[in-house]
Amino acid sequence: MNEHDSERISGLLEADGMVPAVSEEEADVIVLNTCCIRENADNRLYGALGNLKTLKSEKPELQIAVGGCLAQKDRELIQERAKHVDVVFGTHNVQNAVTLLKKAKTDGPVIEILEEIVEGDYEAFPSALPVRREVDHRAWMTIQIGCDNTCTYCIVPSVRGPEISRPFGQLLEEAKDFALQGVTEITLLGQNVNSYGRDLTKNLKHNDPSDFDIHQAGLAWADNQNRRVKPLFADLLKSVGSLEGIERVRFISPHPKDLTSEIVEAMSASESVCEHLHLPLQSGSDSILSAMHRGYTGERFLEKAREARKGIEDLSLTTDIIVGFPGETENDFTDTLEVVAEAAFDSAYTFIFSQRPGTAAAEMTSEFVDHDIAVKRYETLRKVVNRSALLKHKDRIGRIEEVLVEGKSKKGTDFVTARTRQNKVIHLETNESLKPGTFAQVEVKDATYNYLVGELREIIATPKHRKRIPVMAE
Ligand code: SF4
Repeated sequence: MNEHDSERISGLLEADGMVPAVSEEEADVIVLNTCCIRENADNRLYGALGNLKTLKSEKPELQIAVGGCLAQKDRELIQERAKHVDVVFGTHNVQNAVTLLKKAKTDGPVIEILEEIVEGDYEAFPSALPVRREVDHRAWMTIQIGCDNTCTYCIVPSVRGPEISRPFGQLLEEAKDFALQGVTEITLLGQNVNSYGRDLTKNLKHNDPSDFDIHQAGLAWADNQNRRVKPLFADLLKSVGSLEGIERVRFISPHPKDLTSEIVEAMSASESVCEHLHLPLQSGSDSILSAMHRGYTGERFLEKAREARKGIEDLSLTTDIIVGFPGETENDFTDTLEVVAEAAFDSAYTFIFSQRPGTAAAEMTSEFVDHDIAVKRYETLRKVVNRSALLKHKDRIGRIEEVLVEGKSKKGTDFVTARTRQNKVIHLETNESLKPGTFAQVEVKDATYNYLVGELREIIATPKHRKRIPVMAE
């Protein structure tokens, strides 16, 4: 989500006539787009700002801006701790970044944080702004911002606000536009994508859908006699997945409690929707899941995982797990290991609990787990996750996979890096110069727990993108 916000900030600056600088020393403007989901990100921001202080004293006309969710959370504190910062803006007014930089030039340092998005202000969605994408064949599309859940460790609801979905019709138009530009892979973004659209359908007149209703909720909703308040994610997957030119559709992140059979069916029915599901488990212990306010048990999670694997052939399942949540006992941790072993994940992002001020879990200080114990549990969990990832990856040796080339590989000049439909990184040995965006068939020759190695068999399609010049919205 933050990377996508950064693309939009770059796009806005470019639309205003700026060009990317080759180094910090040559820049006229430096924007730090921040994330506050983990404590480490906090520390890194203030470290980075400390380093920029010398640069600013040597070059006073340099403008420094800080945006994103840490700015939304810390506000004035940023300029108190780093007086050389010119602009602080939050998560709801990315679209004002250029105006604020201009204002700071004439009026001095400025802070603008909006508490929430003004209703109907779709410019506040990063996807509605000009963009400067790093690659041309792949695009992110924000379908929803904010989150209505109350996970006790998470700062997102307080810095991103309640869930607001973008109109269905607007998303389809944007996806069609991407396809015309030569984009072949779209990733749908949201904090809880599978509740997308619930807020939209709540406000519609159900008896006789108007054109406005159809634009908000899509044709599938309007054509259905049972036009109840409901999430529209399954409809969206099918619609974006059926657009000509869009070969791959991905999404992050769904919440396990909201993963319905309808979504599994939509994933399986649409050829373009990739066989990859990132389903954050967080813990396998029922009591910890309850303390986290996750809304499911370990067994319920496993049932959802089984249903998804049954419904979607060759599905890759990945997850997020936190160890050392306040109150976690050895038994709780053993429950997590058991669920992880049973789920047989293809990979997992694993974290040690990070105390975020302002969250309910940050107040549970008397139950904090000793850091050394948390580190030990983390290492044990990594071993279990890596073992199942290695087994899954070795299972793919000898298969022919369709891959999408991403660019140079760290493995050497004879290799390029690509991604399979299951979202696995594959280093591809080839003498051909394959451009990013090329589709190819490769044979998997080797595997580790975090990547595959393959050999080129056939080029299926070369990229056809047309360069988009960022334009400022009217
Ligand atoms: S679902 Fe939970 S973890 Fe995810 S953004 Fe919402 S509150 Fe945070």
